[in-house]
Amino acid sequence: MTGRDSPLQDDLHAVVVGAGFSGLYMLLRLRQLSLPAVALEEAADVGGTWYWNRYPGARCDIPTTDYTYSFDPEIEEAWSWSEKYATQPEILAYLGFVADRYDLRRDIRFSTCLVSAAWDDTDARWQVRTDRGDELRCHHLVMASGCLSLPKTPDIEGTGRFRGRVHFTSRWPHEEVDFAGRRVAVVGTGSSGIQVVPPIAEQASQLVVFQRTPNFSVPAHNGPPPEKRVQALHADRQAYRHAARWSRGGISYEMTDVSGVTATEDVRRQRFEQAIEAGELFSILGVFNDQVFNAVSNEHVSEMIRERIRRIVRDPETAEALCPKDYPFGTKRPCLDTDYFETFNLPHVRLIDLRKQPIVSVTEEGIDTTDESFVFDDIVYATGFDAMTGPLVNVDITGRHGITLKQKWAHGPSTYLGLATSGFPNFFTITGPGSPSVLSNMAVSIEQHVEWVADCLDFMRRKGFDTLEPTDTAEAGWNQHVLDCASITLHPQADSWYMGANVPGKPRVFLPYIGGVDAYRTACQEVVEKGYLGFQLSGPSAQQCNDGVVRRLQPDVSILLQMVEALGVPPIESLSVDDARALWRASAAMRPPPPEVGEVADGTLPGPAGDLAYRLYRPATAGPHPLMVYFHGGGWVLGDLDTDDALCRDLARRADVLVVSVGYRHAPEARFPAPVEDALAAVRWISANGVALGGMPETLAVAGWSAGANLAAVVCQIARDDGAPHIAGQLLLHPVTDSDLSRPSYREFADGYMLTTAMMDWFWEHYADPSRRADPRVAPLRGRLQGLPPAVVVTGEFDPLRDEGLAYAQALAAAGVPVEHICARGHVHTSITMVDVVLSGAPVRAQIAERIRHFMPATAPAPAPAAL
Ligand code: NAP
Repeated sequence: MTGRDSPLQDDLHAVVVGAGFSGLYMLLRLRQLSLPAVALEEAADVGGTWYWNRYPGARCDIPTTDYTYSFDPEIEEAWSWSEKYATQPEILAYLGFVADRYDLRRDIRFSTCLVSAAWDDTDARWQVRTDRGDELRCHHLVMASGCLSLPKTPDIEGTGRFRGRVHFTSRWPHEEVDFAGRRVAVVGTGSSGIQVVPPIAEQASQLVVFQRTPNFSVPAHNGPPPEKRVQALHADRQAYRHAARWSRGGISYEMTDVSGVTATEDVRRQRFEQAIEAGELFSILGVFNDQVFNAVSNEHVSEMIRERIRRIVRDPETAEALCPKDYPFGTKRPCLDTDYFETFNLPHVRLIDLRKQPIVSVTEEGIDTTDESFVFDDIVYATGFDAMTGPLVNVDITGRHGITLKQKWAHGPSTYLGLATSGFPNFFTITGPGSPSVLSNMAVSIEQHVEWVADCLDFMRRKGFDTLEPTDTAEAGWNQHVLDCASITLHPQADSWYMGANVPGKPRVFLPYIGGVDAYRTACQEVVEKGYLGFQLSGPSAQQCNDGVVRRLQPDVSILLQMVEALGVPPIESLSVDDARALWRASAAMRPPPPEVGEVADGTLPGPAGDLAYRLYRPATAGPHPLMVYFHGGGWVLGDLDTDDALCRDLARRADVLVVSVGYRHAPEARFPAPVEDALAAVRWISANGVALGGMPETLAVAGWSAGANLAAVVCQIARDDGAPHIAGQLLLHPVTDSDLSRPSYREFADGYMLTTAMMDWFWEHYADPSRRADPRVAPLRGRLQGLPPAVVVTGEFDPLRDEGLAYAQALAAAGVPVEHICARGHVHTSITMVDVVLSGAPVRAQIAERIRHFMPATAPAPAPAAL
């Protein structure tokens, strides 16, 4: 160990903070690039988290085949793991072995903390101070200080009063702690508590576990490294590592397409038992493909875990207290255990449910709860960490203009790729907030970040740049993307450390990136390929800034587009009309079961050329309800009552309106104006028969999606001119409003976003002769807009129809029509209709429903004068 032998060089290329998994590798990469660097490490030796968390039972919970460096095949040859989940001493020995092998200790200053770092714009360097009085300058500051390295101070009354021994799992003593014959308390039942309880129970004469929130835990089935993984690794090391790097969680495992909602009970159990058998975190996190998003699917996994707990723990009251019930499985970090639940069957082990009897205070003798006084010899706190942001904002780091990181992140972290943050040039965070880090196999995520940073520093040196900093645009875009990804999951429902909820006063923000290691790696690569997109690079003779946002699509929309591309579905316009209709119907039928409504009833109404089918959706609430006539989309050629069924149900439920979806004749068999005539006839009939349908005709609105929205808009214009029927409002979802296909959105989103420009051409060909396309009944944007009913116009950010929808909203407003324009950010043309597939569309549909309620109040206003 080098310690403080040599004075620190004053002007370094980089200072690395931390000498754990990330700091060691960062130091090595910098050395390989011949960039002078030093690492500051608070501990007396290497190891990071594995140096401090040396409590009995501490192990990794990612199989050692994968919880290991992969950058050098030689160290993989030279080191072999003895267990599936290695103990803390073995992992610490491994990190020591790596440090020795590359002689890293000579560049590490142990027992040295970073006290402050301030960016100096005048010489483009960080001014760094340590607690040992060192003052040095460096070009780059790399925080490799870990995500779970700052222990949380237990927020329990009287902790300082206890006269017995106190231990923290996160700062365990180096010498062995003997619990034989002692009365021990363990406070906290997260991963650390769950690991430490069984070994302490083996020694202690009495063990009381104080549990505030029960945790989901499944058996680790520890033993030798898993045969299947070892064989795969030895068979093709490169392929094995490649698969892990491009997996969702940084470890390869089989992804399932089984949904917990639609699978049979037998299949559900079978999949669950397989996951239990595997004893791996990602197996239990991936029992169903929808358990992260769907509460019903998640509850199936949660309940099967609870059933296991009830089977194991003999005392029913204790078993019940150990069953997590108030958050979805996986939204708090799940645990792998060895005999944790079995431990509560031992006669000298007791669980105290703090929900029933909270701690009042720690006393000189032990712990007082509201119901009992306990006497202990030892108290073990396993109370967790100020995760991810804590180790960063609790150091005095000052960026440009004297702003500290703590100030900048006062409302939650703001990063670009979880790697950098604007206002703090040449500042990198290894596995920082906004990156997959704690949701992934850390070994893989650490290597990816270290390599990205090293490549970046090498690029800067080669190109003559001396500073790099994300732009505000790029950072805001990434923060939005991180939030979008989390918002469609069940995570925000839990009071977890992922959400910052374990530390009083900490902003409630989902900290890591949940889009997946694979998707994340792609984004990082793309940033580089696009000339460091979103980074401002400067040097004495060069400047570069390709500003932009790397991910703008909603995450589920992006996955959907990838799936569609992978399916190789033929373009609609290459098919016959019949085949196109069949494909349209088939893709609608593949969607998950639609939402329930009070009643769905099919009927017919008289149309100008025969009966028209309609489907009525009645909300479960007491009627009568405001009425909404809905026209499906499909370019006047495709679609029917079934294809837009889910959207109609969703509208009825959310807006509490009675939706009547009307089938109309289709082109090319019935070209313009047939669909318009049908739509008009339907609105007139429903208005006349609204009471019989259970509606309030005086609050009748029209709605439609795409070509259906075109019909709705046209009907409003004709009804206004005719003076009847009275239409209270119009909801135009991604409407076709014009026949001019030259607007920029037709070029920008011509292909690759579901609706294509070629498809729109095809629809127009079938619908209306070119000579008729300027008719306002075809292109309502060209009609007179004064006196039309209030409108809600929804456009998609990635939709060829975006610009004409926006043009219609603007033209309505200019004509004095009350109009609300909702831009569906990150959405494509079909997003809104794909209820329960595009989950990120839900807030947009909620916003739509809120606006509908506004123009269609359940208590009907007096009808407006017909002349309006
Ligand atoms: P944790 O998951 O945050 O658990 C802390 C526990 O302490 C929780 O049960 C918490 O209850 C309880 N607690 C906190 N303050 C309390 C108070 N004032 N009164 C009563 N109970 C209190 O922390 P951790 O167990 O140290 O684990 C943190 C993370 O480190 C893990 O999620 C995991 O990522 C990692 N880790 C991994 C391993 C491994 O196997 N490789 C081992 C240990 C840790 P509430 O839930 O009610 O807040």
